[in-house]
Amino acid sequence: MTHTHPEPAETYAQQYQRAATIVAGLGCLLRHIQREPAVGRALTLIDTTELQGPLDAAGLQSLLAEATCERDRCAALAERDARRQEAGLAAGAVCGCGHGDTLHARLLTEDDRLPCAHRDCRCDDLVFVTR
Ligand SMILES: [Zn+2]
Ligand SMILES: [Zn+2]
Repeated sequence: MTHTHPEPAETYAQQYQRAATIVAGLGCLLRHIQREPAVGRALTLIDTTELQGPLDAAGLQSLLAEATCERDRCAALAERDARRQEAGLAAGAVCGCGHGDTLHARLLTEDDRLPCAHRDCRCDDLVFVTR
């Protein structure tokens, strides 16, 4: 006769410990939010479905890295669109260097330039010329 040994069930004392820890932790968090509304507002921005693990410093760091990439990516696209609209051109317009707007950098340089990414092109900033 074979016996399967199920995992020993958690005792009520252990379950109580775990629940009590969560109660204390949430209470602490809520007190901080009441004292510091900015913390509460910041917490509403966190998409916990994108969290891979607990909402700890490492989890926040990885969300921060992702959000920063997304912000920078959008900044470059917004800058590209703004310049194109200013020139009164449609999507896919060509830069003064002869290359399309999508061929230019996907991220702004530190001094807000969008250099051409085409090999051997010396264009160091996307400039639309109306022809
Ligand atoms: Zn260019
Ligand atoms: Zn170019």
